[in-house]
Amino acid sequence: MAQEKQIAWDLYHSYENFKEKSLTNRRFKHSDIVPLIEQLKNKRNFKVDKVGKSVEGRDIYLISIGSGEIKVFLWSQMHGDEPTATAALFDMFNFFSDDSAFPEFKKFLLSNLSIYIIPMVNPDGAEEFQRRNIVEIDLNRDVLRQQTPEAKILKEVFDSLKADFGFNLHDQGRDYSAGNSINPASISFLAPAPDYDKTLTPPRENAMKLIGNLVSVLNEFIPGHIAKYSDDYEPRAFGDNFTKWGTATVLLESGGWRGDREKQFLKKINYITILSALNSIASGSYANTNLNVYESIPQNEKFMMDLILRNLKIKRDNIEYVIDIGINYDEVNLKDAKDFYLKAKIEDVGDLSVFAGYEEFDFSEYTVEPGKTKPEPYLSLEELEKINPSQLYNEGYTNLILDDESFQGEYSHLPFNIIFNGKKVSEVNVKPEESPNFIIRKNDEVLYAVVNGFLIDIKKVDSWDGNSIVYGK
Ligand SMILES: [Zn+2]
Repeated sequence: MAQEKQIAWDLYHSYENFKEKSLTNRRFKHSDIVPLIEQLKNKRNFKVDKVGKSVEGRDIYLISIGSGEIKVFLWSQMHGDEPTATAALFDMFNFFSDDSAFPEFKKFLLSNLSIYIIPMVNPDGAEEFQRRNIVEIDLNRDVLRQQTPEAKILKEVFDSLKADFGFNLHDQGRDYSAGNSINPASISFLAPAPDYDKTLTPPRENAMKLIGNLVSVLNEFIPGHIAKYSDDYEPRAFGDNFTKWGTATVLLESGGWRGDREKQFLKKINYITILSALNSIASGSYANTNLNVYESIPQNEKFMMDLILRNLKIKRDNIEYVIDIGINYDEVNLKDAKDFYLKAKIEDVGDLSVFAGYEEFDFSEYTVEPGKTKPEPYLSLEELEKINPSQLYNEGYTNLILDDESFQGEYSHLPFNIIFNGKKVSEVNVKPEESPNFIIRKNDEVLYAVVNGFLIDIKKVDSWDGNSIVYGK
């Protein structure tokens, strides 16, 4: 294990040399990875095959490296909006195509393993940054019917390989925590069950031991941020069936990490995890791991929220209550799904002491009230851009009416929501499901506002980098 941890640290420190520089956020598309795959055709050690096409005709590739006896099959992004591992696979391709670095380690892996990879099983979903494929079928519920070409391709490649190990690479929601802790479940594992009885078959036991080994390595980098996905049997899913059909399958889910919405750090952790897994499979070290390590991984729980404002006072019928407010941001895709904006909602209100926020602020001694809509409309965007935000917040406003049809867009970087004249937006209260727009006072002085769930320190409104919502367009 000491040697495996050392290699993982060496991978960690040398990561910048191999990181695929063209994939810098989560919303890359098939057209971004095809040129990278085509380049691999010229690299020693690599074999590149087209294994079929998506519904919309995008090529799905199988890339293979190595000539060892043990077969390992990795596939990513069956769900189009779960790209973290795909990007990490391209870091790994760079690692294997560089002849100078880690020569002994690479030789060891490639002489013991034959590694097969399908990056981006669902390119049409990636195009729209959506979970399902383009005919709205969840590929990971299509292993039985195999109605979609993408699921058919994955099953055919699986059947042709009969791999010893499989890696089912996904992303999971940011709301998962590692057990009952304040830490996001940044990486969650599962050795999927092969049946409703969750039988411990030899492939499943191997997957559990390998996961135990990976947890020991990852505890070097992200201690307390590792969890275990629910092992309820899902007869329609690939991982469960691949386990049943004899492949030791590891489900790897990338979750959240504080300050890393684009998951660039978690991409690096994926890269280290996958190479560490290959190392352990090649050496057989996983077989010595005690099953207790897997058993003791905390469960995925849902205790995370994007933002929690704590201990605010609020008046209802002249009685004062103390509340926490929990806020989550949903990503709304724009027409070209490379872009998005955030739309916030109040997730919960009250005693949220069992929850943890990616960001938290303590507002003891502050009072909160719902933000209001200023009744007098502005006639043009130029007029709106001349406003004095502090004064409007002092008057209790978080929403402004704009009477200018030439304005385009669904969101804005103005620190106020924009409502088009005639569009009726009722004053909302501080309650779950509503849009979080508030004014926050201390001793009657307005010090903060919340617009579309983004906290604004009104003395620093110019440096605010959230987005507001445009209603009624
Ligand atoms: Zn998924």
